[in-house]
Amino acid sequence: MARVYNFSAGPSVLPESVLRRAADEMLDYQGSGQSVMEMSHRSKTYDAIIKECEALLREVMNIPDNYKVLFLQGGASSQFAMIPLNLLTGSGKADFLITGQWANKAYQEAARYGEAKVIASSKDKTFSYIPEWDEADFTPDADYFHICMNNTIYGTKFHKLPETGDVPLIADVSSCILSEPIDVSKFGILYAGAQKNMGPAGLTVVIIREDLIKEPQACTPTMFKYSTHSENDSMFNTPPCYSIYICKLVLEWIRDEIGGLEKMKEINEKKAKLLYDFLDESAMFRGTVEKKDRSLMNIPFVTGNDELDACFVKEAASAGFVNLKGHRSVGGMRASIYNAMPIEGVEKLVAFMKAFEAANA
Ligand SMILES: *Cc1c(COP(=O)(O)O)cnc(C)c1O
Repeated sequence: MARVYNFSAGPSVLPESVLRRAADEMLDYQGSGQSVMEMSHRSKTYDAIIKECEALLREVMNIPDNYKVLFLQGGASSQFAMIPLNLLTGSGKADFLITGQWANKAYQEAARYGEAKVIASSKDKTFSYIPEWDEADFTPDADYFHICMNNTIYGTKFHKLPETGDVPLIADVSSCILSEPIDVSKFGILYAGAQKNMGPAGLTVVIIREDLIKEPQACTPTMFKYSTHSENDSMFNTPPCYSIYICKLVLEWIRDEIGGLEKMKEINEKKAKLLYDFLDESAMFRGTVEKKDRSLMNIPFVTGNDELDACFVKEAASAGFVNLKGHRSVGGMRASIYNAMPIEGVEKLVAFMKAFEAANA
C-alpha cells in the first residue's frame, strides 16, 4: 500500500493511526456488531461517542464552562448566515476585517440580514497580508465583530487580535482550529468546518458563549437557530454521526499521541519553519505572503513562472506529493501542512523542491 503525502487544503490528510483505528472498528464497533455509520444516533453506544467527543474537545481546547459546543452540518459556509440571523438582533450592525474570500463571504452574507461594515481589507494586494485596523473605526454598539483567523487560500494568519471590548469577537477558525492553543474566552463564537484539522467533511463545530444563544431574527429557520441545537445537545435531528466519531479519534490522537495543543504547536512550528526557511533561501521559489502574517497551516509559494509552476506541480504529484496546486485565485502552489501532515512529509517535500531547483536552474 502506497500512501501519498497529501497537501490538500481540505478535505485533507488525517492521522494514519486514526484511519487504522477506524478501519479496525469498521465492521463491529466495540462489540455492537455494527459500524458507527449504521447505528441509531439515539442509541446508548452512539450517545457515548458524541458525549466523549465533546468532553475531549473541551479538555484539549480548555473550553470554559459558559460556552456550548455544537456539532452541526452545513459547513462553515452556513455559519456565514447563521451568525447574523442569530446575533443581528440588537443594533443590527456588525464589523468585518476582509482578509480573503471566506472573510468576504461572511461579510456579504451578513449584509443580507443587517448593516455590515468593512473596517479594513487587504484585497489591494491579493490578501497577501493582514491589514492594519484603527479601533476608532469600530462600531461601538455592533452586535459582533468578525474575523477569519487563518486565511486558507492566501496563507495569512492573525498574530494579534482586534480589541473589541464588549462587542463579541467571532472567528472562523476552520483551517487553524486545534493547530495551537487558543484562548476561547476572548471570543463570542469560534466555528470551523471539520474537514481541515478535525475530521471528515460534513461536521461543523461551533463553540458559542451561552449569552449569545438568544431569540434570533423572526425569519430564522428552526435548523438555523443556535437555541434549537443547544437545547437538544446537537441531537435535534440526525447529527453527522460518522464525522463526529472520526473527530473523537482525532482528538484522542492529539491528546494521547501528540500530547496536547502546546505540543501540537511545537510540531507545527517546526514543520512550517522547514518550508519557510527554504522559501527564504531559494533562488527559484518564494512565499507570497508578508513574513509577519504567515500562516502555520497553509503556505502558498510561486516560482514567478507559470509554466515552471505547472511543471513543478506535475512532477511533485508523480513523486507522491499531491494537491500542491495553488488556489485558482492566487495561482502557483500551496502546501497545506495541517496537524496530520507528518514532519517527514515536509522534509521530503523540501528535499524534492531543492532537487527540482537544481535540475531546472
Ligand atoms: C474551507 C473553509 C471554509 C468553507 O468551509 P465549508 O465547510 O466548505 O463551508 C470557510 N472558511 C475557511 C477559513 C475555510 O478554510
